[in-house]
This record gives sequence, C-alpha cells and structure tokens, in this order.
Amino acid sequence: KRRTAAAAPATPGALKDGTAVPLLANLGKSDDAAAARDLGAEGVGLFRTEFLFLNSSEAPTVADQQATYEQLLAGFAGCKVVVRVLDAGADKPLAFLNDDVEENPALGLRGIRVLRAREQILRDQLTALAQADAATAARGEGADLWVMAPMVATVEETEYFTSLARELGIKTPGVMVEVPACALLADRILAVADFASIGTNDLTQYTLAADRLLGSVASLQDPWHPAVLRLVQEVGAAGRAAGKPVGICGEAAADPLLAVVLVGLGATSLSMAPSALADVRASLAEHTLDDARSIAEAALAADGAASARAAAQAAASQTA
Ligand code: PEP
Ligand code: MG
Repeated sequence: KRRTAAAAPATPGALKDGTAVPLLANLGKSDDAAAARDLGAEGVGLFRTEFLFLNSSEAPTVADQQATYEQLLAGFAGCKVVVRVLDAGADKPLAFLNDDVEENPALGLRGIRVLRAREQILRDQLTALAQADAATAARGEGADLWVMAPMVATVEETEYFTSLARELGIKTPGVMVEVPACALLADRILAVADFASIGTNDLTQYTLAADRLLGSVASLQDPWHPAVLRLVQEVGAAGRAAGKPVGICGEAAADPLLAVVLVGLGATSLSMAPSALADVRASLAEHTLDDARSIAEAALAADGAASARAAAQAAASQTA
C-alpha cells in the first residue's frame, strides 16, 4: 500500500530580501495546535482564553487552567506562544463578570479594566500560566511564553499589568494595542512593556467609532483606513526605536496585501487564522522590506480605505 508523502514543512515567513517575519496562529482552543502547525504556524501570536471561562458561573481553577496551558505550550514546544489574559466584556460578555448592564459596553468595563476590578481572577490566570511554563520547561517541552493584556489604554495600566505579571513569574509581559490612546503613546507604553501586539479589529472599531458588531456601520470597520494605518505606523516606529517587537494579531494580518503594508509600517510578526498563513507567506515573499515600506507609504497617503487599498495594489504591482 502506497503511503502519501507527508506535507513538506512550510518555510518560515520572510520577505524577498530574507527579512524574517514570523507567521503565527490565532487560536481559541489548545487542541487546535496540531492543525495550526500542519498549516505552517511558527508559533502562536494570539491564544484567546475566553473559552476557558464560558458556560461557567465562576472562574476555572488554577489547576484546570494550568492543564490547558501546558497542552498548548507542549504543542508548540520551542516556539513563541503569546497568550492573552481574559478579555471579558463588550463583544465577549461573561455572565459572572459583566453583571452590570452598560449602555455602551464596548466603552465600558472590558479587558484589563474588568480584570483589575476582579484582580484574583487575573492573579489566578497569571499563576496558572507561570506554573505551566515552568512545568513544561522542566519536562523539556517548554515554549517561549509571552503574556499580554487586552484593551490597555494607558501607561499606568501597562505598569499595573506588567509588574503584576512579572511578580507572578511571567517573563515576557506585553500589551495589546487596541485603543487609539495606546497607539499614540506607544513610545511610553513600550518603555514599560516587553512587546506590543496590535489588535486591528478593536483598533479599527475605536479609531472609526464604528461598533464591530453592527452591520449598519460595517463599511467603516475597515483596517485599510489610513487613520488606522497611521496608528500602526506610530506603534511600529516606537517598537523600532525601543528595539521591541510589534506584532499584529487582528484580522488585518490575514489580508495578503495588507500584511505587506503592516510589515512596511514596522510590524515584526503577523498572527492570523491558520487557514490564511499560506497566502500571506506567498505575498510576503514577493516584496523586499524597501518595497513593503513604499507600498505602505502609498497606502498612508490615501484619503480612505478603498483608495488606500488601490494605491497599495498599484505600488505592489510596480515592485513585485
Ligand atoms: C482584535 O481586537 O483585533 C483582536 C485580535 O482581539 P479580538 O478580536 O479577540 O477582540
Ligand atoms: Mg480585541
């Protein structure tokens, strides 16, 4: 009986000139790790932990969480794994945490704001992560664990999260850039955090003041908008100046041309749904870093999302 040849391992993400751009997976469950690796994920750029807290009237125990995190880290042994602490509220309400009815939940108690109000939940999650990190490392199946907080708006919140995470044994704490205030102060934020990861879904929602769940304003929820790109550029420049990584983990990274623009704006890694990895890898390989920067300049100079995309397409066809 003939055996089908195993798929060749995907090459790591890189631009045409060899500049490495690690291509990572967005995951929502630890048992998705094997499938993501098969699709060429070099690590995990966003592990959403909300599923652990769903369908429950209370937070999971440290031991239960630790088991899940160990499975995740062992599934990506030797790779970078970025875990996001619980992002409850707004589009991800959790019954036991978001008990007050808010008129504008996207602007309310969500992400790091809820965790701060209920600090024991955050402490337990960070403890479970640190213990999973230590346990997998002791078995020789450890990953390079980074942990980030969602919905950070201020330097003070960054200080709060990174110092608590370090105190509880997390070696590499960072923040998600999802709020324009965070992008605009990225230089100060990155003086405190070890890395930033831009969540373009929320960053677009908050930049354009367009609810990501509302179909009637969906046309405004477009990460190609030059206002969003300028904020990404701000964070990219701050990352370069500080020598700190700036990842992208929103849906924008899964658009092959926008991925090139994001790298041109200073993103150092891209994380996406695993099914998008192959097309993004192919697109990056067509352009040098200089190309990516000029394609990004063309998009930035546009007045709106559609014209930014068209300008990037025109610039890309000249450089490819
Ligand atoms: C984002 O906001 O871009 C993001 C990656 O987080 P989520 O979609 O889970 O809010
Ligand atoms: Mg988000």
